[in-house]
Amino acid sequence: MAGATLFPQSQLFPQSDRSRALGARLAAFMAANVLPAEAGLAAWAADPATRWTPPPQLEALKAQARAEGLWNLFLPDPQHGAGLSNLEYAPLAEQMGRSLIAPEIFNCGAPDTGNIEVLAQFGSPEQQTRWLAPLLDGTIRSAFAMTEPEVASSDATNIAMRFRRDGDDYVLDGRKWWTTGAGDPRCALLIVMGVTDPDAAPHRRQSMLLVPMDAPGVRVVRPLQVFGYDDAPHGHVELQFEQVRVPVANLLHGEGRGFEIAQARLGPGRIHHCMRLIGLAQRALEAMLERARSRVAFGQPLGAHGMAQQMIVASRCEIEQARLLTLQAAAALDAHGNKGARDLIGMIKVVAPAMACAVIDRAIQLHGAGGLSQDHFLAHAYASARALRLADGPDEVHIASLARSMLKA
Ligand SMILES: Cc1cc2nc3c(=O)[nH]c(=O)nc-3n(C[C@H](O)[C@H](O)[C@H](O)COP(=O)(O)OP(=O)(O)OC[C@H]3O[C@@H](n4cnc5c(N)ncnc54)[C@H](O)[C@@H]3O)c2cc1C
Repeated sequence: MAGATLFPQSQLFPQSDRSRALGARLAAFMAANVLPAEAGLAAWAADPATRWTPPPQLEALKAQARAEGLWNLFLPDPQHGAGLSNLEYAPLAEQMGRSLIAPEIFNCGAPDTGNIEVLAQFGSPEQQTRWLAPLLDGTIRSAFAMTEPEVASSDATNIAMRFRRDGDDYVLDGRKWWTTGAGDPRCALLIVMGVTDPDAAPHRRQSMLLVPMDAPGVRVVRPLQVFGYDDAPHGHVELQFEQVRVPVANLLHGEGRGFEIAQARLGPGRIHHCMRLIGLAQRALEAMLERARSRVAFGQPLGAHGMAQQMIVASRCEIEQARLLTLQAAAALDAHGNKGARDLIGMIKVVAPAMACAVIDRAIQLHGAGGLSQDHFLAHAYASARALRLADGPDEVHIASLARSMLKA
């Protein structure tokens, strides 16, 4: 793996022995198994005959990662997961972030991770037996359906889908979109946000329901694409709900608690995205260095040209800044919980995707036209980083919330 030694150890946040040992095993697993599998999995996803089915190679890698103890590393709860702190997990997530296929292989991929955290924190014992156990085992996948096409969903109080009570059931009608993971045949569970009481205070109107993907009336309308990438087989899909009946027992944590659950889910979910983006940007920088050493233009290697040097150095500086801010946010999350770390998580959620977009864009530029093509990981990486300026909250919403917090203080 070119440049693996470039993974710097932070002097401000030294890695624990356990995290360091796991990191060494993870790096070896990534180099031996994950990076070499990328081309095969891309071919599987490009083939119309197989693209919406789970690749057997991925399932085999999951089994191998689990057997080697590289499984559920994201979950701080030692009862269900590895019991690592966020600070301990950060360098591991960074390594997984180097490859878009890696997080799922270690059962550390969104949106399952956020859904597992929600079920571990808010699920009843029955809900945990039915859904949490198979998610922790990686035998099913799940999706989180909050965003709706008809309303500005960055403002959660706009969510309009009604959960109408009828006897011992709720009845759901409406449309969701950008439901990541719901295109996957292994997706068995949707965590859906909707309105149970339109007359309640704005943050007490919504609830969350566990909706089996095979419930009658749930229909995948279409997969959505990010710059042409649909991320099959898990996908980002539009979903129609028509007279979907779900028992009241499937409610999570009680009526009117949807906003509270969304807040709890998004804290760790956002920082995990940022940790992975650091890894993706780092890999782009390493690819840039490789290119700068090997490609000759106007009589000298690209790396000898001042403008290329500027791109390389700017990228290293920006990655290191974002890495330190991510670690700072992770340390705050460990010490003060979601609420206490809110500003730092908002800051890194604005900084990391923009940083990754800038670094990957420079890497594309140094690779010439090939950098835009399927011959390199860069184009897909850019699409993925760009989407994170919107997913889990657009930049502007985090900036507005940070400004409110700062001005109030
Ligand atoms: C790849 C991808 C995966 C996703 N996965 C999921 C998923 O699994 N589940 C799910 O529920 N959703 C998912 N989303 C949806 C995502 O969370 C929403 O798109 C996001 O919250 C924004 O909502 P919206 O698209 O309705 O934009 P809107 O709410 O309509 O906002 C549009 C724009 O308005 C601007 N804006 C909004 N508020 C302010 C403000 N206060 N100040 C200034 N400008 C503002 C921002 O520029 C914003 O981008 C995903 C999105 C993408 C791209």
